[in-house]
Amino acid sequence: MPFGWTANPYRGCEMGCRYCYARYTHEFLGENNPWQFERRVYVKNAEPAALVTELTRARRSGLLVAIGAATDPYQPGEARFGVTRRVLEAARAAPGVRLSITTKSALVARDAGLLADLARRSEVSVNFSITTLDTGLARRLEPRAPRPDLRLAAMRALTRAGVPTALFLMPVLPYLTDDEAGLRAVLGAARDAGAGSAVWNVLFLRAGTREFFLEFLAAEFPGLVPGYRGLYAGSAYAARAYVARVEARVARLAEAAAFPGRRRCDRTPDAPADRQLTLVW
Ligand code: SF4
Repeated sequence: MPFGWTANPYRGCEMGCRYCYARYTHEFLGENNPWQFERRVYVKNAEPAALVTELTRARRSGLLVAIGAATDPYQPGEARFGVTRRVLEAARAAPGVRLSITTKSALVARDAGLLADLARRSEVSVNFSITTLDTGLARRLEPRAPRPDLRLAAMRALTRAGVPTALFLMPVLPYLTDDEAGLRAVLGAARDAGAGSAVWNVLFLRAGTREFFLEFLAAEFPGLVPGYRGLYAGSAYAARAYVARVEARVARLAEAAAFPGRRRCDRTPDAPADRQLTLVW
């Protein structure tokens, strides 16, 4: 998504999605064991005055502030630490700041009133990442994320509260969640729950995530390993022909589900470099 600023209240994510592209970010903290990403989460100390200052600067720039562009801002720790809520409260003191929040968690519904208040004054979107409606598969792929139906219920609650929501159908996982029926089900359910738009992307396997995910596949879906190795031969991106096929499929299904226009997750070429808000931790 094109955005100018990012705020990631947590480093690491307890939800532990097997395909999470942010796993490598723990290496910057000297955590080289990829499991530590979900086992040791760093909580940032969001000092309210500093947040208001930074958010006011973001507002002046006119660029979007993406909350949770790397790790989930409503992961379980948020119920205890409330850092994301403090960021939103600070945003209320910088009216006009544009916010985009991405999550897999139903906990975001806790902040429905605050988000609705922000949405009345500015541009706000809460983007729900949902890869499948198959609860068993979701539990294997996203072991500590709330069930897909709970995310949809949160989406419905926010929509009713007046908060714009979107479906982030990503990643689309080759041979696991790329089938027509499964994709149609996710798009239809999100549209019913009030999602105003949908974006999608095929799985990106950057170094760090690639090894981790292939180990997971070997343990849980060994028959898929050769197919993945062929699809991602020497690249973090799936083969071009496969990506084109899946994108066309999702675009067609999104249109059938009455999502407006065709959108996929691409940063615009001239989007400015993102800027991390200063949070002391
Ligand atoms: S919820 Fe998001 S940040 Fe957390 S592990 Fe899953 S993909 Fe990564």
